[in-house]
Amino acid sequence: MSQRIVIAGGGYVGLYTALKLQHRLRRGEAEVTVVNPENFMVYRPLLPEVASGTLEPRHAVVPLRAVLKGTRFVAGRLTGVDAERNVATVAPYAGPELNLEYDELVLGLGAMAKLMPVPGLAECGIGFNSLAEAVYLRDHVLRRLEIASATADPELRRRALTFVFVGGGYTGVEALAELQDMAVDVLAGYPEIDPAEMRWVLVEALDRILTTVSEDLAERAMTELGGRGIDIRLGTQLESAEGGELHLSDGTKFQADTLVWVAGTRPQALIGELGLPTDERGRLAVDPTMRVHGTRNIWAAGDCAAVPDEGGGVSPPTAQHAVRQAEQLGENLVADLRGRQALPFRYRGRGEFVTLGKNKAVGEVFGRKLDGSLAWAARRAYYATQIPTWNRTIRVLGDWLVGMPYGHDVVDLGSREQPRGAFEEAAGHR
Ligand SMILES: Cc1cc2nc3c(=O)[nH]c(=O)nc-3n(C[C@H](O)[C@H](O)[C@H](O)COP(=O)(O)OP(=O)(O)OC[C@H]3O[C@@H](n4cnc5c(N)ncnc54)[C@H](O)[C@@H]3O)c2cc1C
Repeated sequence: MSQRIVIAGGGYVGLYTALKLQHRLRRGEAEVTVVNPENFMVYRPLLPEVASGTLEPRHAVVPLRAVLKGTRFVAGRLTGVDAERNVATVAPYAGPELNLEYDELVLGLGAMAKLMPVPGLAECGIGFNSLAEAVYLRDHVLRRLEIASATADPELRRRALTFVFVGGGYTGVEALAELQDMAVDVLAGYPEIDPAEMRWVLVEALDRILTTVSEDLAERAMTELGGRGIDIRLGTQLESAEGGELHLSDGTKFQADTLVWVAGTRPQALIGELGLPTDERGRLAVDPTMRVHGTRNIWAAGDCAAVPDEGGGVSPPTAQHAVRQAEQLGENLVADLRGRQALPFRYRGRGEFVTLGKNKAVGEVFGRKLDGSLAWAARRAYYATQIPTWNRTIRVLGDWLVGMPYGHDVVDLGSREQPRGAFEEAAGHR
């Protein structure tokens, strides 16, 4: 009888595990089902460029139904796992819960923002982990420029033109750098705003930014950002944000319409509710083959799992690790179905790029340090070749090509948050 493999999560782990199975399984050997809330996989390293409008949002994602041929796709959320009965429960967009029976279950649910108990943060802040957040932030920043240019009220202008990012890891630095680059680029179209009125602040609790690259590269990034007038506060924490009034631990107080919280992630909260073993950080505890401890047929990888690495530690939560884990996991599932032994995950990180805006980046590849336009070009070449399918590669290259001579687009599509506004207004005038 054909075996049933259920993959919960259609991100890096889900997509690459399913692609591996698609390639390796014999006809009729297993039925594979992928469950994900959206029918696309988000290519997260490209999100900062979605936020700056350099990339069209649809070009930075991979449509799951189009690439996963022969794999069943269910749009929904995993809500529970009955490990005794081998049943995964899934909530679809509408209708009753589905019970998916499995012989093998893969958990690749990724991560969510890790919030601190900062008063006002949950009400005023926004994260930077999803496509929706990246698209929203672009329109939000452009809307702030419109607000500031239409008013003479100094307080309103100051508040609109103050953009604060908390967290100096690569997500925070890239998001801030790309958005600031966009705002500076489009400012020529806002003669009412003096560029010196814009305030971009990066708040970092540690005494350095970008802890995943070497210190001198982080310094180069600091110099680049500082040179652009970005106010970097090291060794500083956000203490409160009630009503948009930000209090920092260095005593500074100011108002800001934009507060982006990028100070860490944690595994999806559901992971802790599944009744499966987790480590002290809430990640699923797995052996080196990525099988969840104490189970025979549940596997986990990526940001929601503590996958042991060769050095005796745990793999970092990066896309490059998630892809390699998924490929090994796919092999292990095939091995398990065929009664062979699963093999341990082995991979050593190759480096990292951090975009700092158009023509600017820092990077470290196989120990070689790069910065400026060379790092920027190398980063682009890397991602263009890594994103799955030629279709996406060509769309991404097309966006980059068009962006070269034309710069950033200033169109603010924030009105899509109230798509029924005009219709409701018309209804009010019947
Ligand atoms: C802005 C940003 C930039 C990044 N840049 C880089 C970079 O330059 N280099 C790098 O190596 N890494 C980078 N990363 C990290 C990298 O994206 C992650 O490590 C990687 O996405 C982890 O893969 P994953 O499959 O574990 O999770 P994800 O890719 O996040 O996928 C998890 C999937 O599970 C889905 N899901 C969640 N809950 C449920 C549920 N209940 N049921 C079903 N599905 C569910 C989610 O919707 C998502 O589709 C970046 C991350 C971000 C946010």
